[in-house]
Amino acid sequence: MRRLIGLAVAAGLVAAALVGCAPTGGDGAIALLLPDKKTARYETFDRPVFTERVAELGDYEVLYSNADQDAAKQQQQAESALAAGAAVLVLDPVDGKAAATIVNTANAQGVPVIAYDRFISGGEVAFYVSFDNVRVGELQAEALVTALEERGEPDGGILMVNGSPTDNNAKLFQQGARSILDESGLRVLAEYDTPDWSPDKAQTWVAGQIAQFGHDIAGVYAANDGTASGAIAALRAADVSPLPVVTGQDAELSALQRIVAGDQYMTVYKALKPQATIAADAAVALLTGGAVDAETEVDGVPATLLDPVAVTVHDIVDTVVADGFWTVEDICTPD
Ligand code: BGC
Repeated sequence: MRRLIGLAVAAGLVAAALVGCAPTGGDGAIALLLPDKKTARYETFDRPVFTERVAELGDYEVLYSNADQDAAKQQQQAESALAAGAAVLVLDPVDGKAAATIVNTANAQGVPVIAYDRFISGGEVAFYVSFDNVRVGELQAEALVTALEERGEPDGGILMVNGSPTDNNAKLFQQGARSILDESGLRVLAEYDTPDWSPDKAQTWVAGQIAQFGHDIAGVYAANDGTASGAIAALRAADVSPLPVVTGQDAELSALQRIVAGDQYMTVYKALKPQATIAADAAVALLTGGAVDAETEVDGVPATLLDPVAVTVHDIVDTVVADGFWTVEDICTPD
């Protein structure tokens, strides 16, 4: 008897000790499918914030993949996640139209899809969380107009370096920017849709435009910080002086450092932590049959759109630093 009790106590102790190393995911699996490895935000903010929030909400497994700008690869990653038992997909599509196939495949298996940051056209999306992306483009163009007026070049020539042609956001940024630029005195010299949002391709294109337009380039509308880095590298390599006014987006650390150094004029801060948190909350709600909070609708899809904020050297402290996105030390410490 004593020996049996001893064994039972030992088994209890082993079971208690094993609780800490039990496999996670007992409450179900959620797939997070992100599009791009070259843009810093995804691995720095979206992925970790989403994963941490999901862990706070329960014992869920997050099946993570990044498609590295390859739409076919993203389709395979989605299929693998479904095969592995994902019960909700949170999808930031490489190609907003092609991704309808992923949505249909998931829905056919009873799996709802959340469009994360980029809209998905076609297919029944359960929820969309993003920013007011037309406003992003307006903020970029307004900053360009103001800066060039201040420089005494209200009718200066500008280059437009847009985002990827397969990203619906890129169209909205461009639309917002055009609505301001077309009403201003600025002249668009040339315009480019950057495949895959590639900083290298942006650099090559801007280098070609410098060869053609030279000092007639007073500003560069760059749709995000990655394309801004490519544009600035091309301008520096060609010794264009003074440096044209360059816009950006994402409040990447390297962009804030370029702004402090005077190489980039502005970026757009998007509060990525709330965005990822809202997506995680919605994913768990869909998994557990709860209600998803949506503030508006986009093309019939319940949606929440957050507000973007323009950042120049004058408001870094009041925006990204005040919001705890980066510290002054982060910005002032070179990589
Ligand atoms: C996102 C931007 C990002 C870009 C490149 C866009 O859809 O909204 O934040 O810089 O994609 O990944």
